[in-house]
Amino acid sequence: MKRRTAELLNGITDLRVDESGDLSLLTGFRTGGRAVIAVPQSRQALIETVNVLRKQEEKHFILGNGSNVLAMDDGYDGIVVLTREACSQIEADGTRVRAGAGASLADVCRKACSEGLTGLEFAFGIPGSVGGAVFMNAGAYGGEMKDVLAEVEYLDSDGQVTVSRAEDLEMSYRSSWFQDNRDTVILSAVFALGCGDSEVIRGTMRETMNKRIEKQPLEYPSCGSTFKRPQGSYASKLIDECGLKGMTVGGAQVSEKHAGFVINRGGATSSDILELIDRIKERVSEMTGYELECEIEFLD
Ligand SMILES: Cc1cc2nc3c(=O)[nH]c(=O)nc-3n(C[C@H](O)[C@H](O)[C@H](O)COP(=O)(O)OP(=O)(O)OC[C@H]3O[C@@H](n4cnc5c(N)ncnc54)[C@H](O)[C@@H]3O)c2cc1C
Repeated sequence: MKRRTAELLNGITDLRVDESGDLSLLTGFRTGGRAVIAVPQSRQALIETVNVLRKQEEKHFILGNGSNVLAMDDGYDGIVVLTREACSQIEADGTRVRAGAGASLADVCRKACSEGLTGLEFAFGIPGSVGGAVFMNAGAYGGEMKDVLAEVEYLDSDGQVTVSRAEDLEMSYRSSWFQDNRDTVILSAVFALGCGDSEVIRGTMRETMNKRIEKQPLEYPSCGSTFKRPQGSYASKLIDECGLKGMTVGGAQVSEKHAGFVINRGGATSSDILELIDRIKERVSEMTGYELECEIEFLD
């Protein structure tokens, strides 16, 4: 980091900077090296931090809960900006719930449930923040963010706070406008929900969570599904049919429980994970003709 950037960041109230943060503590696979981590403690500090980094032309990466991010073994040569302590407030207003980008998606689901608001049950159990969920158009069990999202407030590439309606954000399967506009930062989202019964909603959330516990290798670090669903099939089905369950590189393994998950069985490095991903892609392509595409984001 340039000395001038450090000085400018130093001048921001409510900003903590860890000069040698451990990325393995902040990302899904629990792998990765070191990086400068900026941890704004307020929305204003997040905006100021990003604006300083842009002005100083410092490479940076916005990290929510890190549940879908693979960090590299040799760390990151830019500044990682963590949102989770900056914007985590959640408010309900009628049938709408507004949540800061750093709020946990699980907490948003719980809030909706306690307010008797239905629509977000599918998302209970998707690890991560609201910002990450919007960026990825996260989804599960027949639902996705785009079904419930009304609008998103973000910092645009000129440093201005802008609001866009969800229908203008090109949301489709695990994709959003933000993925093509990585110089933007999601600040908050509004979810438009329906009236429901808290007990029924709670029951559905519990069922959803139980399905995850039953089907997914939650006892090991991972980023969830490693690959996107290819058209006409399922990544886990293809990987299973190619006999790749249990395939291992170092500490990285194709989960025996769910072939769509690459897991850290213990002691995996990011290089192990990357090599395993390459081998899976190669074998699936050779044996089925399908070209798998990663759902994981890379911090590099
Ligand atoms: C066990 C497990 C199960 C999972 N199951 C599912 C599932 O069922 N469905 C599903 O869709 N996903 C699933 N995932 C993946 C992951 O939970 C989602 O992608 C989630 O939405 C990521 O949120 P996050 O806050 O952790 O984002 P991160 O991993 O921190 O970031 C993901 C991407 O979003 C960007 N980003 C994050 N916040 C912002 C922001 N405020 N502004 C701009 N960009 C931002 C990051 O730069 C990065 O490119 C699973 C992961 C695990 C570990």
